[in-house]
Amino acid sequence: MNIAPASKKIGIVSLGCPKALVDSERIITKLRAEGYEITGTYEGADLVLVNTCGFLDSARAESLDAIGEAIRENGKVIVTGCLGAEPDVIMAEHPKVLAITGPQQYENVMAAVHEVLPPKHEPFQDLVPASGIRLTPRHYAYLKISEGCDNRCSFCIIPFLRGDLVSRPANSVIAEAENLVRAGVKELLVVSQDTSAYGRDIKYEASSFKGIETRAKFYDLAVALGEMDVWVRLHYVYPYPHVDEVIPLMRDGKILPYLDIPFQHASPRILKKMVRPANIEKQAARIKAWREICPDLCIRSSFIVGFPSETEEDFQMLLDFVREAEIDRVGVFKYENVIHAPSRELDEQIPEDVKQSRWERLMEVAQEVSAKRLQTKIGREIEVLVDEIEEDGTIIARTIWDAPEVDGNIIIEPFEGAKVGDKLMAKVTDADEYDLYGCGA
Ligand code: SF4
Repeated sequence: MNIAPASKKIGIVSLGCPKALVDSERIITKLRAEGYEITGTYEGADLVLVNTCGFLDSARAESLDAIGEAIRENGKVIVTGCLGAEPDVIMAEHPKVLAITGPQQYENVMAAVHEVLPPKHEPFQDLVPASGIRLTPRHYAYLKISEGCDNRCSFCIIPFLRGDLVSRPANSVIAEAENLVRAGVKELLVVSQDTSAYGRDIKYEASSFKGIETRAKFYDLAVALGEMDVWVRLHYVYPYPHVDEVIPLMRDGKILPYLDIPFQHASPRILKKMVRPANIEKQAARIKAWREICPDLCIRSSFIVGFPSETEEDFQMLLDFVREAEIDRVGVFKYENVIHAPSRELDEQIPEDVKQSRWERLMEVAQEVSAKRLQTKIGREIEVLVDEIEEDGTIIARTIWDAPEVDGNIIIEPFEGAKVGDKLMAKVTDADEYDLYGCGA
Protein backbone atom coordinates (compact mmCIF):
# COMPACT_ATOMS: atom_id res chain seq x y z
CA MET A 1 0.00 0.00 0.00
CA ASN A 2 1.25 3.47 -0.89
CA ILE A 3 0.77 5.96 1.87
CA ALA A 4 1.36 9.56 0.80
CA PRO A 5 3.43 11.55 3.31
CA ALA A 6 1.36 14.05 5.29
CA SER A 7 1.44 17.60 3.87
CA LYS A 8 3.65 20.10 5.62
CA LYS A 9 1.64 22.78 7.31
CA ILE A 10 2.40 26.49 7.24
CA GLY A 11 0.61 28.93 9.52
CA ILE A 12 0.01 32.37 7.99
CA VAL A 13 -0.32 35.63 9.91
CA SER A 14 -1.22 38.49 7.55
CA LEU A 15 -1.04 42.06 8.86
CA GLY A 16 -1.47 45.41 7.17
CA CYS A 17 -3.33 46.89 4.22
CA PRO A 18 -5.13 45.27 1.25
CA LYS A 19 -1.86 45.44 -0.70
CA ALA A 20 -0.18 43.27 1.93
CA LEU A 21 -3.18 40.94 1.79
CA VAL A 22 -2.61 40.50 -1.95
CA ASP A 23 1.04 39.64 -1.19
CA SER A 24 -0.13 37.01 1.29
CA GLU A 25 -2.51 35.59 -1.32
CA ARG A 26 0.30 35.30 -3.86
CA ILE A 27 2.57 33.54 -1.35
CA ILE A 28 -0.23 31.16 -0.30
CA THR A 29 -0.97 30.37 -3.95
CA LYS A 30 2.68 29.43 -4.51
CA LEU A 31 2.83 27.40 -1.29
CA ARG A 32 -0.34 25.47 -2.15
CA ALA A 33 0.96 24.82 -5.65
CA GLU A 34 3.94 23.11 -4.06
CA GLY A 35 1.78 20.94 -1.85
CA TYR A 36 2.05 22.79 1.46
CA GLU A 37 -1.07 22.91 3.59
CA ILE A 38 -2.08 26.32 4.95
CA THR A 39 -3.43 26.81 8.44
CA GLY A 40 -4.67 29.80 10.34
CA THR A 41 -3.41 28.52 13.68
CA TYR A 42 -0.01 28.08 15.29
CA GLU A 43 -0.86 24.65 16.62
CA GLY A 44 0.24 21.83 14.36
CA ALA A 45 1.97 24.23 11.96
CA ASP A 46 5.48 23.15 10.95
CA LEU A 47 6.38 26.77 10.30
CA VAL A 48 4.72 30.19 10.70
CA LEU A 49 5.02 32.94 8.10
CA VAL A 50 4.32 36.45 9.38
CA ASN A 51 3.56 39.06 6.68
CA THR A 52 4.27 42.35 8.43
CA CYS A 53 3.33 46.01 8.00
CA GLY A 54 5.81 48.79 8.70
CA PHE A 55 3.90 51.88 7.60
CA LEU A 56 3.31 53.58 10.94
CA ASP A 57 5.11 53.13 14.22
CA SER A 58 1.94 51.56 15.65
CA ALA A 59 1.90 49.04 12.76
CA ARG A 60 5.59 48.27 13.33
CA ALA A 61 4.87 47.61 17.00
CA GLU A 62 1.93 45.38 16.08
CA SER A 63 4.14 43.47 13.62
CA LEU A 64 6.89 42.98 16.21
CA ASP A 65 4.26 41.74 18.71
CA ALA A 66 2.87 39.31 16.15
CA ILE A 67 6.36 37.93 15.46
CA GLY A 68 6.91 37.54 19.22
CA GLU A 69 3.61 35.69 19.61
CA ALA A 70 4.42 33.36 16.70
CA ILE A 71 7.82 32.54 18.24
CA ARG A 72 6.24 31.87 21.64
CA GLU A 73 3.40 29.75 20.28
CA ASN A 74 5.24 27.88 17.55
CA GLY A 75 8.95 28.65 17.50
CA LYS A 76 9.67 28.37 13.77
CA VAL A 77 9.05 31.76 12.19
CA ILE A 78 9.84 33.39 8.85
CA VAL A 79 9.07 37.11 8.45
CA THR A 80 8.19 38.91 5.22
CA GLY A 81 6.43 42.14 4.18
CA CYS A 82 7.14 45.82 4.75
CA LEU A 83 8.95 45.49 8.07
CA GLY A 84 11.11 42.82 6.41
CA ALA A 85 12.87 45.73 4.66
CA GLU A 86 14.46 46.41 8.05
CA PRO A 87 15.92 43.07 9.20
CA ASP A 88 18.05 44.74 11.90
CA VAL A 89 14.96 46.02 13.70
CA ILE A 90 13.41 42.54 13.69
CA MET A 91 16.57 40.68 14.69
CA ALA A 92 17.27 43.13 17.53
CA GLU A 93 13.96 42.21 19.16
CA HIS A 94 13.49 38.65 17.90
CA PRO A 95 16.86 36.98 17.24
CA LYS A 96 15.15 33.56 16.93
CA VAL A 97 13.48 34.43 13.61
CA LEU A 98 14.70 31.92 11.00
CA ALA A 99 14.64 34.14 7.90
CA ILE A 100 13.54 37.63 6.85
CA THR A 101 12.54 38.84 3.38
CA GLY A 102 11.23 42.21 2.23
CA PRO A 103 7.91 43.10 0.57
CA GLN A 104 7.01 41.42 -2.76
CA GLN A 105 10.05 39.15 -2.62
CA TYR A 106 7.97 36.08 -3.41
CA GLU A 107 10.91 34.00 -4.68
CA ASN A 108 12.96 34.79 -1.57
CA VAL A 109 10.05 33.81 0.68
CA MET A 110 9.76 30.50 -1.16
CA ALA A 111 13.52 29.91 -0.92
CA ALA A 112 13.41 30.59 2.83
CA VAL A 113 10.45 28.20 3.24
CA HIS A 114 12.24 25.50 1.20
CA GLU A 115 15.27 25.76 3.39
CA VAL A 116 13.36 25.32 6.64
CA LEU A 117 10.70 22.98 5.31
CA PRO A 118 11.54 21.26 2.00
CA PRO A 119 8.41 20.71 -0.14
CA LYS A 120 6.72 17.35 -0.47
CA HIS A 121 7.16 16.13 -4.05
CA GLU A 122 3.73 15.61 -5.64
CA PRO A 123 4.15 16.52 -9.29
CA PHE A 124 0.74 15.29 -10.46
CA GLN A 125 -1.37 17.14 -8.00
CA ASP A 126 -2.73 20.54 -8.95
CA LEU A 127 -3.90 22.10 -5.72
CA VAL A 128 -4.46 25.59 -7.00
CA PRO A 129 -7.56 26.96 -8.72
CA ALA A 130 -6.92 29.22 -11.73
CA SER A 131 -7.94 32.24 -9.66
CA GLY A 132 -5.19 31.56 -7.11
CA ILE A 133 -5.82 31.39 -3.38
CA ARG A 134 -7.66 34.33 -1.92
CA LEU A 135 -8.00 35.55 1.64
CA THR A 136 -11.11 37.62 0.90
CA PRO A 137 -14.62 36.10 0.68
CA ARG A 138 -15.39 34.44 -2.65
CA HIS A 139 -17.44 37.30 -4.02
CA TYR A 140 -14.87 40.08 -3.94
CA ALA A 141 -11.13 40.25 -4.63
CA TYR A 142 -8.32 42.77 -4.56
CA LEU A 143 -6.54 43.25 -7.87
CA LYS A 144 -3.07 44.67 -7.42
CA ILE A 145 -1.90 46.51 -10.53
CA SER A 146 1.49 47.86 -9.45
CA GLU A 147 4.00 48.00 -6.63
CA GLY A 148 5.91 50.90 -5.14
CA CYS A 149 5.48 54.62 -5.71
CA ASP A 150 7.32 57.45 -7.47
CA ASN A 151 5.89 60.15 -5.18
CA ARG A 152 7.78 61.24 -2.12
CA CYS A 153 5.14 62.39 0.36
CA SER A 154 7.20 63.51 3.33
CA PHE A 155 5.24 61.52 5.96
CA CYS A 156 5.39 58.25 4.03
CA ILE A 157 7.97 55.47 4.04
CA ILE A 158 6.35 53.34 1.35
CA PRO A 159 8.94 54.33 -1.32
CA PHE A 160 11.66 53.45 1.20
CA LEU A 161 10.02 50.09 1.92
CA ARG A 162 8.69 49.16 -1.50
CA GLY A 163 10.74 51.20 -3.97
CA ASP A 164 9.68 53.10 -7.08
CA LEU A 165 6.62 52.32 -9.16
CA VAL A 166 6.68 48.95 -10.92
CA SER A 167 3.53 48.30 -12.97
CA ARG A 168 2.25 44.94 -14.10
CA PRO A 169 1.65 44.60 -17.85
CA ALA A 170 -2.01 45.21 -18.72
CA ASN A 171 -2.49 41.70 -20.14
CA SER A 172 -1.38 40.11 -16.87
CA VAL A 173 -3.80 42.26 -14.84
CA ILE A 174 -6.67 41.56 -17.26
CA ALA A 175 -5.95 37.82 -17.30
CA GLU A 176 -6.01 37.75 -13.49
CA ALA A 177 -9.25 39.75 -13.43
CA GLU A 178 -10.85 37.37 -15.90
CA ASN A 179 -9.81 34.33 -13.84
CA LEU A 180 -11.28 35.92 -10.74
CA VAL A 181 -14.56 36.70 -12.47
CA ARG A 182 -14.72 33.17 -13.85
CA ALA A 183 -14.21 31.89 -10.29
CA GLY A 184 -17.32 33.79 -9.14
CA VAL A 185 -15.94 37.15 -8.01
CA LYS A 186 -18.57 39.90 -8.28
CA GLU A 187 -16.44 42.84 -7.28
CA LEU A 188 -12.85 43.74 -8.19
CA LEU A 189 -11.07 46.21 -5.92
CA VAL A 190 -8.21 47.78 -7.81
CA VAL A 191 -5.31 48.50 -5.44
CA SER A 192 -1.72 49.76 -5.63
CA GLN A 193 0.18 52.57 -3.89
CA ASP A 194 -0.74 55.01 -6.65
CA THR A 195 -3.43 53.66 -8.95
CA SER A 196 -3.65 56.66 -11.27
CA ALA A 197 0.11 56.48 -12.04
CA TYR A 198 -0.36 52.96 -13.40
CA GLY A 199 1.92 52.19 -16.36
CA ARG A 200 4.06 55.33 -16.20
CA ASP A 201 7.22 53.29 -15.52
CA ILE A 202 6.62 50.99 -18.51
CA LYS A 203 5.73 53.91 -20.78
CA TYR A 204 2.09 52.79 -20.86
CA GLU A 205 3.16 49.88 -23.02
CA ALA A 206 0.33 47.99 -24.74
CA SER A 207 0.08 44.23 -24.36
CA SER A 208 -2.32 41.75 -25.84
CA PHE A 209 -4.77 39.42 -24.12
CA LYS A 210 -6.96 37.18 -26.30
CA GLY A 211 -6.03 39.26 -29.32
CA ILE A 212 -7.04 42.60 -27.77
CA GLU A 213 -4.34 45.19 -27.16
CA THR A 214 -4.62 47.26 -23.98
CA ARG A 215 -2.28 50.03 -22.90
CA ALA A 216 -0.99 49.94 -19.32
CA LYS A 217 -2.81 53.17 -18.52
CA PHE A 218 -5.28 54.11 -15.79
CA TYR A 219 -8.10 54.96 -18.22
CA ASP A 220 -7.50 52.05 -20.60
CA LEU A 221 -7.39 49.55 -17.75
CA ALA A 222 -10.62 50.99 -16.33
CA VAL A 223 -12.26 50.54 -19.76
CA ALA A 224 -11.05 46.93 -20.02
CA LEU A 225 -12.16 46.01 -16.49
CA GLY A 226 -15.44 47.86 -17.09
CA GLU A 227 -16.28 45.31 -19.81
CA MET A 228 -16.24 42.42 -17.33
CA ASP A 229 -19.73 42.95 -16.00
CA VAL A 230 -18.71 43.02 -12.33
CA TRP A 231 -18.32 45.86 -9.87
CA VAL A 232 -14.95 47.60 -10.34
CA ARG A 233 -13.85 49.89 -7.53
CA LEU A 234 -10.80 52.17 -7.71
CA HIS A 235 -8.68 52.66 -4.60
CA TYR A 236 -5.67 54.87 -3.79
CA VAL A 237 -6.09 57.29 -6.65
CA TYR A 238 -3.65 60.21 -6.52
CA PRO A 239 -5.43 63.37 -7.75
CA TYR A 240 -3.66 63.77 -11.13
CA PRO A 241 -5.56 65.72 -13.83
CA HIS A 242 -6.22 62.60 -15.90
CA VAL A 243 -8.46 61.18 -13.16
CA ASP A 244 -11.18 63.30 -14.84
CA GLU A 245 -11.21 60.83 -17.74
CA VAL A 246 -12.75 57.96 -15.77
CA ILE A 247 -15.78 59.93 -14.52
CA PRO A 248 -17.83 59.31 -17.72
CA LEU A 249 -17.15 55.56 -17.30
CA MET A 250 -18.72 55.86 -13.86
CA ARG A 251 -21.71 57.78 -15.22
CA ASP A 252 -22.21 55.06 -17.84
CA GLY A 253 -22.18 52.31 -15.20
CA LYS A 254 -18.99 50.71 -16.53
CA ILE A 255 -17.09 51.07 -13.27
CA LEU A 256 -18.44 51.99 -9.83
CA PRO A 257 -19.03 55.70 -9.12
CA TYR A 258 -16.52 55.53 -6.30
CA LEU A 259 -13.12 57.16 -5.98
CA ASP A 260 -10.80 56.64 -3.07
CA ILE A 261 -8.49 59.69 -3.20
CA PRO A 262 -6.35 60.21 -0.12
CA PHE A 263 -6.16 64.04 -0.16
CA GLN A 264 -4.33 63.99 3.22
CA HIS A 265 -4.92 67.69 3.95
CA ALA A 266 -6.53 70.87 2.59
CA SER A 267 -4.17 73.63 3.66
CA PRO A 268 -1.83 74.52 0.75
CA ARG A 269 0.92 75.29 3.26
CA ILE A 270 0.68 71.87 4.94
CA LEU A 271 0.27 70.07 1.61
CA LYS A 272 3.48 71.68 0.44
CA LYS A 273 5.27 70.40 3.53
CA MET A 274 3.74 67.01 2.84
CA VAL A 275 5.14 67.23 -0.72
CA ARG A 276 1.63 66.71 -2.11
CA PRO A 277 -0.24 68.70 -4.81
CA ALA A 278 -1.12 72.02 -3.13
CA ASN A 279 -3.82 73.28 -5.53
CA ILE A 280 -6.51 72.14 -3.14
CA GLU A 281 -8.85 75.12 -3.85
CA LYS A 282 -9.37 73.57 -7.25
CA GLN A 283 -10.14 70.13 -5.83
CA ALA A 284 -13.50 71.04 -4.28
CA ALA A 285 -14.61 72.63 -7.58
CA ARG A 286 -13.30 69.61 -9.42
CA ILE A 287 -15.33 67.23 -7.27
CA LYS A 288 -18.42 69.38 -7.92
CA ALA A 289 -17.78 69.18 -11.68
CA TRP A 290 -17.37 65.39 -11.42
CA ARG A 291 -20.69 65.15 -9.59
CA GLU A 292 -22.35 67.17 -12.33
CA ILE A 293 -21.25 64.50 -14.79
CA CYS A 294 -21.90 61.60 -12.41
CA PRO A 295 -24.30 62.63 -9.60
CA ASP A 296 -23.90 59.28 -7.85
CA LEU A 297 -20.16 59.70 -7.35
CA CYS A 298 -18.96 58.80 -3.86
CA ILE A 299 -15.62 60.16 -2.67
CA ARG A 300 -13.63 58.41 0.03
CA SER A 301 -10.58 60.17 1.36
CA SER A 302 -8.12 60.00 4.20
CA PHE A 303 -6.60 62.91 6.08
CA ILE A 304 -3.77 63.39 8.52
CA VAL A 305 -4.32 65.75 11.46
CA GLY A 306 -1.54 67.18 13.60
CA PHE A 307 1.11 67.30 10.87
CA PRO A 308 4.14 69.32 12.13
CA SER A 309 3.35 73.06 12.29
CA GLU A 310 -0.38 72.58 11.53
CA THR A 311 -2.09 75.68 12.91
CA GLU A 312 -5.72 76.12 13.91
CA GLU A 313 -6.17 78.01 10.64
CA ASP A 314 -4.73 75.12 8.58
CA PHE A 315 -7.00 72.74 10.44
CA GLN A 316 -10.05 74.95 9.78
CA MET A 317 -9.26 74.74 6.05
CA LEU A 318 -9.42 70.98 6.35
CA LEU A 319 -12.80 71.09 8.10
CA ASP A 320 -14.11 73.52 5.48
CA PHE A 321 -12.85 71.34 2.64
CA VAL A 322 -14.57 68.20 3.93
CA ARG A 323 -17.84 70.17 4.23
CA GLU A 324 -17.54 72.01 0.94
CA ALA A 325 -16.39 69.07 -1.17
CA GLU A 326 -18.91 66.85 0.66
CA ILE A 327 -16.47 64.00 1.13
CA ASP A 328 -18.75 60.99 1.64
CA ARG A 329 -16.35 58.73 3.50
CA VAL A 330 -13.46 59.95 5.60
CA GLY A 331 -10.60 58.15 7.34
CA VAL A 332 -8.72 60.33 9.84
CA PHE A 333 -5.22 59.56 11.09
CA LYS A 334 -3.25 61.34 13.75
CA TYR A 335 0.21 62.24 12.44
CA GLU A 336 2.87 59.77 13.57
CA ASN A 337 6.53 60.65 13.50
CA VAL A 338 7.49 57.50 11.64
CA ILE A 339 11.12 56.37 11.57
CA HIS A 340 12.74 57.08 8.16
CA ALA A 341 9.97 59.52 7.11
CA PRO A 342 11.44 62.87 5.93
CA SER A 343 8.78 64.78 7.92
CA ARG A 344 10.39 63.46 11.11
CA GLU A 345 12.98 66.20 10.73
CA LEU A 346 10.36 68.97 10.69
CA ASP A 347 10.12 71.40 13.60
CA GLU A 348 6.96 72.35 15.47
CA GLN A 349 5.63 68.91 16.28
CA ILE A 350 2.03 69.05 17.49
CA PRO A 351 1.24 67.88 21.05
CA GLU A 352 -0.75 64.65 21.33
CA ASP A 353 -3.75 66.27 23.06
CA VAL A 354 -4.11 68.75 20.18
CA LYS A 355 -3.91 65.91 17.64
CA GLN A 356 -6.56 64.02 19.58
CA SER A 357 -8.94 66.97 19.74
CA ARG A 358 -8.48 67.72 16.01
CA TRP A 359 -9.08 64.06 15.25
CA GLU A 360 -12.35 64.21 17.19
CA ARG A 361 -13.44 67.47 15.56
CA LEU A 362 -12.74 66.21 12.05
CA MET A 363 -14.53 62.92 12.76
CA GLU A 364 -17.55 64.91 13.91
CA VAL A 365 -17.67 66.96 10.71
CA ALA A 366 -17.09 63.85 8.61
CA GLN A 367 -20.00 62.15 10.36
CA GLU A 368 -22.24 65.13 9.73
CA VAL A 369 -21.38 65.16 6.00
CA SER A 370 -21.73 61.39 5.70
CA ALA A 371 -25.15 61.46 7.41
CA LYS A 372 -26.33 64.25 5.09
CA ARG A 373 -25.12 62.44 1.97
CA LEU A 374 -26.72 59.14 3.06
CA GLN A 375 -30.08 60.85 3.73
CA THR A 376 -30.30 61.62 0.00
CA LYS A 377 -30.36 57.90 -0.78
CA ILE A 378 -33.59 57.23 1.16
CA GLY A 379 -36.39 56.09 -1.13
CA ARG A 380 -34.09 54.87 -3.89
CA GLU A 381 -34.00 51.34 -5.27
CA ILE A 382 -30.39 50.23 -5.60
CA GLU A 383 -28.27 47.22 -6.37
CA VAL A 384 -26.48 45.74 -3.35
CA LEU A 385 -23.97 42.93 -2.82
CA VAL A 386 -24.64 40.56 0.08
CA ASP A 387 -21.63 40.07 2.40
CA GLU A 388 -23.24 38.24 5.28
CA ILE A 389 -26.54 36.83 6.52
CA GLU A 390 -27.11 36.90 10.25
CA GLU A 391 -28.76 34.11 12.21
CA ASP A 392 -32.15 35.86 12.22
CA GLY A 393 -31.93 36.32 8.44
CA THR A 394 -30.93 40.02 8.51
CA ILE A 395 -28.89 40.74 5.39
CA ILE A 396 -25.65 42.71 5.69
CA ALA A 397 -24.86 44.03 2.25
CA ARG A 398 -22.91 46.81 0.58
CA THR A 399 -23.96 49.38 -1.97
CA ILE A 400 -21.92 50.74 -4.86
CA TRP A 401 -20.80 53.45 -2.40
CA ASP A 402 -19.31 51.06 0.17
CA ALA A 403 -15.93 49.34 -0.08
CA PRO A 404 -15.51 46.28 2.14
CA GLU A 405 -13.84 46.74 5.54
CA VAL A 406 -13.58 50.53 5.41
CA ASP A 407 -17.04 51.90 4.54
CA GLY A 408 -20.57 51.35 5.79
CA ASN A 409 -23.22 48.74 5.03
CA ILE A 410 -26.83 48.49 4.06
CA ILE A 411 -28.77 46.43 6.57
CA ILE A 412 -31.72 44.75 4.92
CA GLU A 413 -34.72 43.04 6.50
CA PRO A 414 -34.67 39.26 6.00
CA PHE A 415 -36.15 37.92 2.81
CA GLU A 416 -36.44 34.51 1.26
CA GLY A 417 -33.66 33.13 -0.92
CA ALA A 418 -30.94 35.73 -0.33
CA LYS A 419 -27.43 34.25 -0.28
CA VAL A 420 -23.96 35.59 0.49
CA GLY A 421 -22.40 36.87 -2.73
CA ASP A 422 -25.78 37.63 -4.39
CA LYS A 423 -26.46 40.93 -6.04
CA LEU A 424 -29.98 42.06 -5.15
CA MET A 425 -32.20 45.09 -5.57
CA ALA A 426 -33.08 46.82 -2.30
CA LYS A 427 -35.14 49.83 -1.37
CA VAL A 428 -33.45 52.27 1.01
CA THR A 429 -35.80 53.09 3.88
CA ASP A 430 -33.52 54.82 6.40
CA ALA A 431 -29.99 56.05 7.06
CA ASP A 432 -27.72 57.02 9.96
CA GLU A 433 -24.18 58.45 10.01
CA TYR A 434 -22.53 55.48 8.29
CA ASP A 435 -25.10 52.89 7.26
CA LEU A 436 -28.23 52.57 5.18
CA TYR A 437 -31.27 50.45 6.07
CA GLY A 438 -33.61 48.84 3.60
CA CYS A 439 -35.86 46.05 2.43
CA GLY A 440 -36.06 43.91 -0.69
CA ALA A 441 -37.25 45.87 -3.73
S1 SF4 B 1 1.44 58.62 -2.93
FE1 SF4 B 1 0.93 57.29 -1.20
S2 SF4 B 1 2.45 55.61 -1.24
FE2 SF4 B 1 3.24 57.26 -2.57
S3 SF4 B 1 4.58 58.43 -1.22
FE3 SF4 B 1 2.56 59.42 -1.14
S4 SF4 B 1 1.46 58.49 0.60
FE4 SF4 B 1 3.26 57.21 0.11
